Amino acid sequence: MQRLAVIGGGVSGVCLAHLVQEQYDITLFEAQDYLGGNNCSIEVEGGSRVPMGVIIYPARELFEHTQAFADKFGLQRKPAHLAHIFCSNDEVRYRSYSGSGHFLRDIKDVAYLNYGFKAETESHDRKLGDLVAGNKLSKEFVDYVLAPFAALYLSVPYAAIFELPLSTVAGWWNKYCHPFHLMSSFNYIDGGNHQLIDRFAENTRMKIRLNTAVSKVSRSDGQVLLQLDNDEERFDKLVFATRPDEALAMLDSPTATENQLLGNIETNTLTSTLHRQPYGCLDGDITLNMYGDDRASTHMVTTWGNRKCFGMDLPEEIYTSLHQVDKEPVDDSDILAQRTFKVPVQMASTWRVSDRLDELNSDSDAIYYCGSYFCPSYYHEDGIDSAMSLAGRLLE
Ligand SMILES: Cc1cc2nc3c(=O)[nH]c(=O)nc-3n(C[C@H](O)[C@H](O)[C@H](O)COP(=O)(O)OP(=O)(O)OC[C@H]3O[C@@H](n4cnc5c(N)ncnc54)[C@H](O)[C@@H]3O)c2cc1C
Repeated sequence: MQRLAVIGGGVSGVCLAHLVQEQYDITLFEAQDYLGGNNCSIEVEGGSRVPMGVIIYPARELFEHTQAFADKFGLQRKPAHLAHIFCSNDEVRYRSYSGSGHFLRDIKDVAYLNYGFKAETESHDRKLGDLVAGNKLSKEFVDYVLAPFAALYLSVPYAAIFELPLSTVAGWWNKYCHPFHLMSSFNYIDGGNHQLIDRFAENTRMKIRLNTAVSKVSRSDGQVLLQLDNDEERFDKLVFATRPDEALAMLDSPTATENQLLGNIETNTLTSTLHRQPYGCLDGDITLNMYGDDRASTHMVTTWGNRKCFGMDLPEEIYTSLHQVDKEPVDDSDILAQRTFKVPVQMASTWRVSDRLDELNSDSDAIYYCGSYFCPSYYHEDGIDSAMSLAGRLLE
């Protein structure tokens, strides 16, 4: 049996290992002390695990593979009662449309998004900010509805949203948003999304090496040599299931294509904080608070109550807030736990990575790539999707 190394124990790495286990002797290397990558949770008093990263999946067919694996492993899916309320300095600027007067105010803007936005996916040159200048959308709608939604669901700082290629925002809108509500309904896995990762690991024959960061990867006589702390290991094949820039940093002698595609990534740091006291204006199940007076200074904090939003069985409500790392929203004394994530920002250059993933995977017969951050939307489903298509290739 050929020896296969998988670097990265997020959803993409564990799913890939699960799918190819019959044909390979697999070792999975994970730098952290847990599997799941961004799909992580923290155990709190009483034994429940609350999500710190991945929280929800659209309940539509867009997330069919995530849902199919949850069903295969006997995990229950539950609807997440998501409401959105955007507050800017405590003034409510947007509430989920149903029952509010906003729908009438915004009807022209929403109609444009639903019927005119398709054409915008063709150009990578124009930016979201250009839409306002061209009077396609009202400034109020862009600032207080579209930009916060896009920043929330694309994990980008508020100000950077206006600099994103219009194609990125329009592509996300056209794929994920419901015609009349801004987002479709969502599911989560009862008891916590980390269970999907647990089930992949339990149902896969592989050696798991936690706390093991691979430092260097070299091509060597048709095989691959992995440099670990004080050790070297040789494999027939290797799959990078990490962020593209992390993979590039490990490669000893990257090819021209690897250099060009993997290095074109900008990242942004997000912190997830678990805390006791509610923070900011909390009205819906999931609340986006906006602070600041202009686009440059505005920052956002997304907060949800784990009992209220996910129906978790907790002795008292505890909240999770996602925010940019330099905008600490919660008093130190109130913090129960924190995790930090580095996520790629969707620029035009990152589209080129997903457009050319096949090329990257055929560049060499020993080194392959998969993962959410090689796909256009960066969602959990993208990770599973890319693992499934790479598995097809490895099993040929
Ligand atoms: C805070 C947050 C919330 C999110 N919420 C959602 C959501 O609700 N729904 C959704 O669909 N998507 C969400 N996403 C996006 C989603 O998390 C990702 O799309 C997906 O989980 C990424 O999976 P992955 O396996 O491709 O990468 P990761 O989860 O990033 O896994 C990569 C792994 O590689 C490991 N690694 C890196 N370098 C090395 C090395 N040198 N040696 C060994 N291991 C290494 C890392 O430690 C990591 O565990 C969220 C992301 C974040 C950050």
